[in-house]
Amino acid sequence: MPVPQDVVFRLEPGRDPERLTADELLELAAAALVASTSPTDSAAPVPAAARLQRVSFDARAKSMNWRVVARTWRSEEKIPPPARTTPYPPPQVAADAKRVLIVGSGPAGLFCALELLRIGLRPIVCERGQDAQTRRRAIALLNRGEGTDPESNYAFGEGGAGTYSDGKLYTRSAKRGDVDAVLRELVAHGAPERILWGWRPHIGSNLLPQVVQALRETIRGAGGEVRFGARVEDLIVKDGRITGARLAGGEEIAANAVVLAAGHSAADSLLMARRAGAQLEPKGFAMGVRVEHPQSWVDGIQYHGQKEAAGLPPAFYELVGHSGDRAVYSFCMCPGGWIVPSQSQPGTLVVNGMSLAKRDSDYANSGVVVEIQPADWCGKRGWRWGWPELLKKAAKLSDNPLLQEVAHGRLPDAPEQDPLFGLRIQLALETVAHHAGGGDGKAPAERCDRFVKEQEAEAYDLLPTSYLPGLTSVDLNKMLPAGLAKRLRDGIQEFGRIMPGYDGPTGQVIGVETRTSSPVRILRDDATLAAAGLPGLYPCGEGAGYAGGIVSAALDGVATARAAAKALAPAAIDAAADSALR
Ligand SMILES: Cc1cc2nc3c(=O)[nH]c(=O)nc-3n(C[C@H](O)[C@H](O)[C@H](O)COP(=O)(O)OP(=O)(O)OC[C@H]3O[C@@H](n4cnc5c(N)ncnc54)[C@H](O)[C@@H]3O)c2cc1C
Repeated sequence: MPVPQDVVFRLEPGRDPERLTADELLELAAAALVASTSPTDSAAPVPAAARLQRVSFDARAKSMNWRVVARTWRSEEKIPPPARTTPYPPPQVAADAKRVLIVGSGPAGLFCALELLRIGLRPIVCERGQDAQTRRRAIALLNRGEGTDPESNYAFGEGGAGTYSDGKLYTRSAKRGDVDAVLRELVAHGAPERILWGWRPHIGSNLLPQVVQALRETIRGAGGEVRFGARVEDLIVKDGRITGARLAGGEEIAANAVVLAAGHSAADSLLMARRAGAQLEPKGFAMGVRVEHPQSWVDGIQYHGQKEAAGLPPAFYELVGHSGDRAVYSFCMCPGGWIVPSQSQPGTLVVNGMSLAKRDSDYANSGVVVEIQPADWCGKRGWRWGWPELLKKAAKLSDNPLLQEVAHGRLPDAPEQDPLFGLRIQLALETVAHHAGGGDGKAPAERCDRFVKEQEAEAYDLLPTSYLPGLTSVDLNKMLPAGLAKRLRDGIQEFGRIMPGYDGPTGQVIGVETRTSSPVRILRDDATLAAAGLPGLYPCGEGAGYAGGIVSAALDGVATARAAAKALAPAAIDAAADSALR
């Protein structure tokens, strides 16, 4: 008999597993143990304690019940303490500890800093944006359509791009590290405990700022530094090795290593790495739109009309389709959420989704994006996608060098000819969308049925929306490059076959969702995680091309910290093994 033992039981929809008392959970787990013991076996063990381990909801019409996995312990077993709900402070860093400068305070940067402290190295986190509290002002301006601050927005500032997000924490990156340890760290810093076992765990925009502020205080408390309004403008290279960084304003910070965890919205930081000698390679990414429906419509389909009676949370969906040889898929679906303006540069427009812990808005939104591989922007294939017209259009609207350098509209013959090309088409689409929306943060939009049937967009058709700056009726088939528009039409129609009505008049397409992941990777050595050919630089997280979401970015931060420490202070790693939270 495995010890401790996990048992599975089902609960009817009206009985929320989160609300079970400890006694009720123990009783249900004991009954499940008895039921799962064969009559020929010895009597079922009597559990002395039970805890929720995983909870999910089976929404198939014939099932419609909660599936609960409970972990049980017998009285003679040692029952581990519950997850900490207060930070476990790393030891005070020594005065002469090696210094690691971290560019960016996103999940990658913060988890890297914590891990460095646990090993005994001193992190200096430089964040171009403001602390989470001050950042609220810039976000309020964005939501009112009153301008984009290039240093403080949904992408830049304390906690990175995830702070004002849905805070979804599910990940497919279990192989990259200890996901549960990341979740426990978040709980220790104020995230709700249910993320440890919950059904599609998420934190919510109202709670995330407190969590990242608590992480920052833990880092400062142990002797690490976290600086805001500190944009790193250049990496300092001496004798072929990174020795520190220069901030905007001229201050130089010496460091034994630099971790570049700048996220995927900081093209300037990628260019900075390239100037210093890092090698960039193009990588596949995805672009498309957000699609919004009333949450009640999604609930009706997913819960077969039983949401209210069963007291269920706002429903979710995850859809995948195909158009030719490319996938079209839903991305970062936000039940009960808002669509938000998440561009980081004036003159551009990007939409993304977020929600509060309760997910209680009347709308459901999701990215619907098309997979784009580097081969898709080369040669004849690239012409068929329609990138040349997009680039020419965008170059007339913006003097950004990334666009001016391709104002002629010519495409590379092979991906390696221009590693920045993915960045260029991303920026081009964001520029064209801003222009089509008419400014003031307004987003170009069209009803789903008109978009998929290629009918002319009609202003009177626009539906109410969660997107606060407002919408402009735009013929999206004309605004988007032809290859992208076609694949989105195919994908949305396929979604309509899975969720009937998805492509109908209750849905709205809102452009553009471009920041799904980085179109560029900074090459790093698989074993040392250092930038190829540039010792002392550690490309990390989503912007460097090694993560795709909050949890995977945090895991990459931890892995990077260990790799940097292994190079700088190998003995410290073993000594620190016991001090870690996990
Ligand atoms: C609105 C929104 C909703 C999202 N929802 C989810 C979700 O629900 N679940 C999920 O898993 N993911 C979500 N994401 C994506 C998630 O936020 C990112 O995958 C994650 O934050 C990446 O972490 P990171 O640390 O690699 O980079 P980031 O979080 O992007 O952090 C990078 C930081 O570096 C700073 N920086 C950049 N350049 C410099 C420089 N030169 N000097 C100093 N600082 C610099 C930036 O200001 C930024 O704070 C969402 C993103 C957005 C915008």
